[in-house]
Amino acid sequence: MKVPLLDLGTQLESFRDDIVAAVTKVVDSTTYIQGPEVVSLEEEVASYCGTNHAVGVSSGTDALLVSLMALGIGPGDRVLTTPYSFFATMGVILRCGALPVFADIDLLSYNINPQAMEEILAADKEKSIKAILPVHLYGQCADMGAILALAEQYGVPVIEDAAQAIGAEYPDPSSGKWKKSGALGLAGCFSFFPSKNLGGIGDGGMVVTNDTAFADLLRMLRNHGAEPKYYHTRIGGNFRLDPIQATVLRIKLQHLEQWHGDRRKNAARYGELFSRTALVQDKRVILPTPVYHEQAVAAGGSKNYHIYNQYIIRVSDRDALMEWLRSHDIGCEIYYPLALHEQECLQGLMDIDTFPNAEKAARSTLALPIYPELTPAMQEYVVEKIVAFHMR
Ligand SMILES: *Cc1c(COP(=O)(O)O)cnc(C)c1O
Repeated sequence: MKVPLLDLGTQLESFRDDIVAAVTKVVDSTTYIQGPEVVSLEEEVASYCGTNHAVGVSSGTDALLVSLMALGIGPGDRVLTTPYSFFATMGVILRCGALPVFADIDLLSYNINPQAMEEILAADKEKSIKAILPVHLYGQCADMGAILALAEQYGVPVIEDAAQAIGAEYPDPSSGKWKKSGALGLAGCFSFFPSKNLGGIGDGGMVVTNDTAFADLLRMLRNHGAEPKYYHTRIGGNFRLDPIQATVLRIKLQHLEQWHGDRRKNAARYGELFSRTALVQDKRVILPTPVYHEQAVAAGGSKNYHIYNQYIIRVSDRDALMEWLRSHDIGCEIYYPLALHEQECLQGLMDIDTFPNAEKAARSTLALPIYPELTPAMQEYVVEKIVAFHMR
């Protein structure tokens, strides 16, 4: 049996004709920059997330970059973030001329640990930390209740890197009501990279926010800071979203909740299949743990609503397991082999601490196939081969 890590082809079959028709319409319209498809997608994503505004941009990376630019982040500033994420989280901070300051992760959720954040914020006497950039890694919200409380206490805005987590939910600490990721901080950034839960047929991204002035600034900055046309009060960039991507994403957005549900079902099935083996009990395989946050429990005992962009297990002999699974035609991947503070481009730029949990995660996590179209037989095969690996 062959089990790919992701299978966009099978998914495409169900709406290929709709996509081709929609793209053809954009082609025939001759409106190739901005236009009604982008505006409609923005309205639909804002409504999906429950925010007042959504601003389409060229990628998830640019969503983060333009948000930091809107905050005026620059040389001498620092941004508090996690050491365990995709490179873009740190890359945008450095591109603004600022430096990252890392708080280690919690090993259950792989997300930034609020206690570690508090120590850093308390020690920042010169108030050089100008933004907090938590990442909702793998599709599960970081502990936003604690993070927002710290943000308020220290007067620092929060930009959510929700690139992997569109549709993930967390109970709003003030109301206890469930809110979508991106709607909790000042702004939230999404990526429409094809392998994200809502993926385009190329690059794309979006920023959502409830703050009207911030949204206006984002709209201006994504278009070279021009307001009106050819008059530039701020330095922005070309961060616009393509209408061809927008029209495809509008079709796929209609399926998103179904896909989240299928991914969650698949995660539950893995849990069941693994529980029939000794591997979980022996802690030889550590499964993803939807973390119960205090606020979530207060809001009715519900779990953090994980959308499983990735299904991540932790094993001690990770590299050998990856080779073994691949040799049996099972797609799997490491997200990410290095923690951010270990990246070569950062060396020499600043004093670098060690972050033991991030390093441990980078050495021991492995992503298994979790995409919506995965079949029960495929999942049984994956678990069977992981058991066989540990018996060999
Ligand atoms: C994918 C991703 C990004 C970047 O998004 P792009 O659309 O690829 O630019 C940023 N942060 C995280 C955590 C991501 O997973």
